[in-house]
Amino acid sequence: MKSYFRPEIDAMAGYVPGEQPKMADLVKLNTNENPFSPSPEVEKTLKNFDCARLRRYPDPMADSFRDAVASFWGVKRSNVIAGNGSDDLLTMIFRAFTSPNLPVAVLDPSYSLYPELAAMQNAPVIKIKLAEKTFDLPGDILAQAEKANLLMIVRPNAPTGTLFPKETVRNICEKFDGIVVIDEAYADFAADNCIDFAQEFENVIVIRTFSKSYAMAGIRLGYGIACENIIAGLMKLKDSYNIDMLAQALGEAAFRDHAYFTARRNEVIQMRTYLAEELAKRGFYVPESESNFLFVSPPDGDGKKLFEELRKRAVIVRYFSAPATEAYLRITIGNPQENARLLSAIDEIYS
Ligand SMILES: *Cc1c(COP(=O)(O)O)cnc(C)c1O
Repeated sequence: MKSYFRPEIDAMAGYVPGEQPKMADLVKLNTNENPFSPSPEVEKTLKNFDCARLRRYPDPMADSFRDAVASFWGVKRSNVIAGNGSDDLLTMIFRAFTSPNLPVAVLDPSYSLYPELAAMQNAPVIKIKLAEKTFDLPGDILAQAEKANLLMIVRPNAPTGTLFPKETVRNICEKFDGIVVIDEAYADFAADNCIDFAQEFENVIVIRTFSKSYAMAGIRLGYGIACENIIAGLMKLKDSYNIDMLAQALGEAAFRDHAYFTARRNEVIQMRTYLAEELAKRGFYVPESESNFLFVSPPDGDGKKLFEELRKRAVIVRYFSAPATEAYLRITIGNPQENARLLSAIDEIYS
């Protein structure tokens, strides 16, 4: 059949999200969801929501939600844009800053959605390889990224979990002649973050999501922080009503309950330390993770085999088949029962 698609769309494979299998008694550690429920404040807001309100459109600018974000980080409303998940913000960013003449630089390995977004724009992708084992940034990153108009940095990085030194990232923001996006999907689990760079530099956008640390992947909510100019430009590109009414209300509710958020976040970090130690005891290579997952290599270096063996035991993790990642699995930190199931499956597989 004749294709009516643009050639670059025909050429795309399309992003493959982590699977959401319907197996019984499943231990799902493949998409970095939170093992806990959202805050009771979120539940209360949902239960009290007046259904009749749904006949109206939501606030197109999500002002009340943006005010909550702005006051949380000490910035102005005009420095904040809301997204239908941070993937929505990434779509706006790629539309805004990439084209056949405006390449994007991405790290390798990093978030596998970026090259797909570039393909939609027919924009060239410059892949910047991270060091083996340590997954550090290369010293010549600025030279490698020189022709790009957009540079994507995930911090802490996914799927590696590693945290690039903040001073290195500052230097990149200062010297790179283009937009630097710092994707902080996992920054709540890390020792520090780069929100301040979004205020310090005119070319920096920091993006956040409620999907991981706020345990609200199902609601689809994220936000970006940048200087007023950049936010105003991105507003031109967004869908008119990109954040539904419930997401706006529930996001604000989640922000109100900072105590719950901090307590659950700290529990995830504790379990991360525990799981990292247990896997290291079993001979796994476990790079230091500052996120809610571990990127680990089993003693025999066969990521695919372990992925398949775990799957037979209804433990689902994430495997990326590229050469730089095939010795590894990315394992989300689960609740204590899930982590125990993971470890006993591993013991059985290697016994
Ligand atoms: C999960 C994730 C996102 C997407 O978050 P959503 O808000 O669920 O769209 C963005 N970037 C990275 C690096 C992620 O891991």
